[in-house]
Amino acid sequence: MVIWELFSILTLTFSFNYKLAYNCTDFLELSWQKGCNGLLLILIKKDRHMKKKVVIVGAGTAGLSVMRNLHRKRKDLDLTIIEPSDTHYYQPLWTLVGGGVFPLSKSRRPMKDFMPQGVTWIQKAVATFQPEQNELTLQDGNKVSYDFLVVAPGIQIDWNKIEGLTETLGKNGVCTNYSKDVVEYTWQTMKNLKGGRALFTFPNTPIKCAGAPQKVMYLAEETFRNNKVRDKVEVKFVSAGGGIFGVAKYKAALEKVIAKRGINTLYGHNLVKIDGLNKVATFKNNETGDLVEEAFDMLHVTPPMSAPDFIKQSPLANEAGWVDVNKFTTQHNKFSNIYSIGDASSLPNSKTGAAVRGQGPVLVAQLLANIDGKTTDVKYTGYASCPLVTSRSSCILAEFDYDGKPMETFPFNQAKERYSMYLLKKMFIPFMYWHAMMKGYF
Ligand SMILES: Cc1cc2nc3c(=O)[nH]c(=O)nc-3n(C[C@H](O)[C@H](O)[C@H](O)COP(=O)(O)OP(=O)(O)OC[C@H]3O[C@@H](n4cnc5c(N)ncnc54)[C@H](O)[C@@H]3O)c2cc1C
Repeated sequence: MVIWELFSILTLTFSFNYKLAYNCTDFLELSWQKGCNGLLLILIKKDRHMKKKVVIVGAGTAGLSVMRNLHRKRKDLDLTIIEPSDTHYYQPLWTLVGGGVFPLSKSRRPMKDFMPQGVTWIQKAVATFQPEQNELTLQDGNKVSYDFLVVAPGIQIDWNKIEGLTETLGKNGVCTNYSKDVVEYTWQTMKNLKGGRALFTFPNTPIKCAGAPQKVMYLAEETFRNNKVRDKVEVKFVSAGGGIFGVAKYKAALEKVIAKRGINTLYGHNLVKIDGLNKVATFKNNETGDLVEEAFDMLHVTPPMSAPDFIKQSPLANEAGWVDVNKFTTQHNKFSNIYSIGDASSLPNSKTGAAVRGQGPVLVAQLLANIDGKTTDVKYTGYASCPLVTSRSSCILAEFDYDGKPMETFPFNQAKERYSMYLLKKMFIPFMYWHAMMKGYF
């Protein structure tokens, strides 16, 4: 085939050059050059054609780490990543941004810094998927084809599901660590509170980092103590859930923290409405449906979340809207050339960057085996972790599997509040994130 293509190129080039050449020597020289160039072009084209095209949707924690790992491991892949944003955020730092430990700028880096040479970055958003045709459509209508697809667009925050929230967020004492646009207002609010009621909510939907809604509360409570106003502030955790944490071992430890710090709790109540001007939050009792009003001076809202709409409406979604994948292999349950990890996936564990660190190597091993026509025993156990910051000098490092069984890294009881674990959260994990995970080392 290549010989035939070479012959055609040389023949075409010869006949074209015949018209250009002044004499026989020129004719041969030109023909030789153009013929070689033509052959090179064919070889490059053929090489591209033979490379498997892997397209990754989303360059967040999951998409970027997978792309970088694939790029590092296999030069024989044609890698494309689709990501509209020009900035990458390390969201776990927002707990400490809201707590006044770091400025927001510490959590962001230009997206281009993570795009290695040879990887195509399409700076657009995906709109729809046509998995039967191995194709997806961008919001601008252009289509992108693939041999293999990794879907990692994260979770969607449904701000509009709480009446009055968007109108008042970032003012009237209503804050959240879940948005880069207002996270710094959390610190302003807790720092300036002189008395009254500080409420911290948890919604009735899956969320990213289920520990974050209480971490901000512990930092706020510490701030009130530091500012000598603690005796004038009631601190209350109002949650749609049934308890402070899902994993028994850490739940018991956190209940002690709450008792020790004099924090009140109200479970089974979901935030449905905020009247920012009058500083009243309305919660719905899960069981009775009754509405309960709570006055506030500071209200930290953890908003409801769900799978991104374009995933929910796609053939890739399960009934709940998440990308429908096998919980051990990360492979799609219907389309064998599609994979998903991270917050948008149906993997039934807590949605955290730490979970992505456990999921990434499995996805890569499974995907590469599939590309090579092989199988692998590498499976995901459901490992997830949550550094539960309880103050600016203490942290409980929760680590557990799909069944809520602790999977601790260190040879000591991680349910105990420790300064070392706080340093891990503040210094070591961010360092590893930027310098290892985002470079493709899980
Ligand atoms: C306040 C807070 C505290 C947290 N604390 C912790 C913690 O302590 N530990 C921990 O491990 N995790 C924590 N997390 C959770 C962690 O940040 C997420 O679980 C993690 O970022 C999930 O990675 P992801 O790639 O699935 O999603 P993301 O990192 O959110 O990335 C999704 C990417 O997809 C892109 N995208 C969206 N739509 C499209 C589209 N249509 N087309 C193409 N691209 C698209 C987005 O622009 C984004 O870049 C915290 C999160 C928050 C907000």
